[in-house]
Amino acid sequence: MHNRTIAELINGLQSKEFSSVELTQHFLDRIGDLNPNYNAIITVTAEQALKAAAAADERLAAGNAPAMCGIPILHKDIFCTNGVRTSCGSKMLDNFIPPYNATVVENFEQAGAVVLGKTNMDEFAMGSSNETSFYGSVQNPWDTNCVPGGSSGGSAAAVAARLAPGATATDTGGSIRQPAALCGITGLKPTYGRVSRWGMIAFASSLDQGGPMARTAEDCAIMLSCMASFDDKDSTCIDREVPDYCAALGQDVSGLRIGVPSEYFSKGLNEGTEQAVRTALAKLEEQGAELVEISLPNTGLSVPAYYVIAPAEASANLSRFDGVKYGYRCEDPKDLQDLYSRSRAEGFGEEVQRRILIGTYCLSAGYYEAYYGKAQQVRQLIQRDFEKAFETVDVIMGPTCPSPAFKFGSKGDDPVAMYLEDIYTIATNLAGLPGMSVPCGMVDNKPVGLQIIGNYFDEARILNVAHQYQQITEWHDQAPEGVAS
Ligand code: GLN
Repeated sequence: MHNRTIAELINGLQSKEFSSVELTQHFLDRIGDLNPNYNAIITVTAEQALKAAAAADERLAAGNAPAMCGIPILHKDIFCTNGVRTSCGSKMLDNFIPPYNATVVENFEQAGAVVLGKTNMDEFAMGSSNETSFYGSVQNPWDTNCVPGGSSGGSAAAVAARLAPGATATDTGGSIRQPAALCGITGLKPTYGRVSRWGMIAFASSLDQGGPMARTAEDCAIMLSCMASFDDKDSTCIDREVPDYCAALGQDVSGLRIGVPSEYFSKGLNEGTEQAVRTALAKLEEQGAELVEISLPNTGLSVPAYYVIAPAEASANLSRFDGVKYGYRCEDPKDLQDLYSRSRAEGFGEEVQRRILIGTYCLSAGYYEAYYGKAQQVRQLIQRDFEKAFETVDVIMGPTCPSPAFKFGSKGDDPVAMYLEDIYTIATNLAGLPGMSVPCGMVDNKPVGLQIIGNYFDEARILNVAHQYQQITEWHDQAPEGVAS
């Protein structure tokens, strides 16, 4: 059962080939057996899952089942789950049990999905390797000496290892697409404002966006149809009808204009990765798509602009963790100042502290205009690059990240090397555009991701292109050794 896609599992449930309780138990057993190899899941909610599965079976029997009724999924541990610890990968929130559900969690509940547990992640979603998690790093199922990517590395590894057919994730600078690429699965970061951020622990509020991870584009379409909604509890959520993403999957790609930015094939791009991406583009060209060379001239400024804006917003968002209201509190504080400073020093890891320091500095009086103001201007330039490109093309494609999964510790001492992992993904967040990663090849037995970027609210189009690509290729069906049997 674990080799089937969400679409196939929905059919299996509806035709009574198996029940949701059987399906849920099957995945719980796999998690018990295999998760110790990967550390992808940090909380398993077996009892609640089986209860929800039994309820789903009743709805299925009664014939009034919603879209994902009885399908087991995992939530990234950044989404608040009522009564279930939500740690955000941090010691700071190791004891935090939210009294409410995030809107995304609520939407999946309404859709009948069964929650198996919560996935591991970089602390407060800061990282590209999952090495910053308080709960230890996640192993990449393709090579357990390598990172799964981050920050949604737990969700990506869990889907790749078939511990769940789908999982939620978030993307501030690449955290859905990069781990999806490194683990050989499909992931989608929607347009900013498409998915509610309410109850999703904030990192950088103007960049954060939740989205689905699954094995295929079709499954991402099923998940996004449930996940996206207008939510008046999130003032940046956009009131716009959620299209039926699955209905849009049947269009062929002939006549599709694919922009190929020269800046995305710059030096630093792994040769095998480039070859795999070029082969994927040629395949689409064979199907009648047109490749158009384009330029996104300010691409090189996106990482520097992001590393001012994201830490600035993070430093403001994370100021709420003060040892007073909730979360970690140090032992025996001498006074209030000591309570604040020791709780934060002991509760936050090194990368989070680094970002808070950078952000506080950039926002301080006297530096604000020079750093934050400047970065916002650069952001506008990046946005305009895309606006201009979309005047002549329908989608933009290139690699998701510069190279396949790397070994643990190999970028540990050099934060900038790690920051460059997101060189092809960050601009999309700065502009607020939707982007996907789709498996498109292997280098040294490790997966490569093809990135597909769309115009605002054009999720249906990029999902369709990805789906069409998956109809003529088999990369998304590949499984790490020992996982598919
Ligand atoms: N790797 C980037 C960072 O560390 C992006 C993380 C993310 O998208 N959450 O900020």
